[in-house]
Amino acid sequence: MIGPYPFGDEKMGVVHTPFLGMEHQTINAYGNGYAQSIFGYDGLLQHELAHEWFGNQVTNANWDDYWLHEGFGTYMQPLYAQYLWGNMAYNAELYQIRAKITNKAAVVSGQSQTEESVYDAERGPGQDIYNKGALVLHTLRHYLGDDKFFQAVRELVYGTATPQPGNFKPRYSSTQEFIEIVNRISGQDMHWFFDNYLYQAQLPKLAVNRNGEQLQLRWLQTKSAFPMPVEVMVDGELHTVAMPTGQGSLNIGAAARVQVDPQQYILKDRPHFAIYHAWEKARRAQAAPAKNKSAKNRH
Ligand SMILES: [Zn+2]
Repeated sequence: MIGPYPFGDEKMGVVHTPFLGMEHQTINAYGNGYAQSIFGYDGLLQHELAHEWFGNQVTNANWDDYWLHEGFGTYMQPLYAQYLWGNMAYNAELYQIRAKITNKAAVVSGQSQTEESVYDAERGPGQDIYNKGALVLHTLRHYLGDDKFFQAVRELVYGTATPQPGNFKPRYSSTQEFIEIVNRISGQDMHWFFDNYLYQAQLPKLAVNRNGEQLQLRWLQTKSAFPMPVEVMVDGELHTVAMPTGQGSLNIGAAARVQVDPQQYILKDRPHFAIYHAWEKARRAQAAPAKNKSAKNRH
């Protein structure tokens, strides 16, 4: 779906290691013990293999653009689950990833970063470069449609819309270049999308208010204008509410059942995830004394 394996003239190698895994060009480290999963494939091996495209074929120009490796690499797992088992598996994987987003720091700061500063969850985005990056791509894919989305990804990876073995070389890219590619392919200025999802920590929040026969929608917690349209299911009928100024409304009459963004295409603030994590943390602290958290979670 992205394009040819970038190193087909060399090999696709795997080497056993005593740790979980790490991407290396043409020879990935693997130590996942052939774990089984409900998705029917080895997510760790698949993730490291994804880095042959997102990391080794296209490399971030600065560590501030690290999500180009990890967000795209992580999105390849639900995408592969969708190829194997359809939308049920795609959405199930995405929901698990969605639940891990922390929103403590922006995924992209706009400043030059070291790898350590990006991974540092106290100062930087930490694991959000994986999890939030993947959900941002899920949202972008639905907004653009598959043709434009995958063309943009292909150009990011290969620097050409028509990659063939022999006509591309490993390249560097950046978040800004990806935005330029998306702008050109979509024919729109999409800075609003990336400003609000990547360059600010908090997620846009959708205020929903039912006022008589009107359903009023308004985007809050935005860094800049956020004209993200919203699908609304009204008694089983799907509508799309345009939000050109960050707000919109829909006449719903006396509808009994109104569901906003019923397919969960849009990444947005959902307080129940943070409430759950706080509850789970308190429950664990009560059950057992804190252990030294020295294990690094990188791959
Ligand atoms: Zn990775």
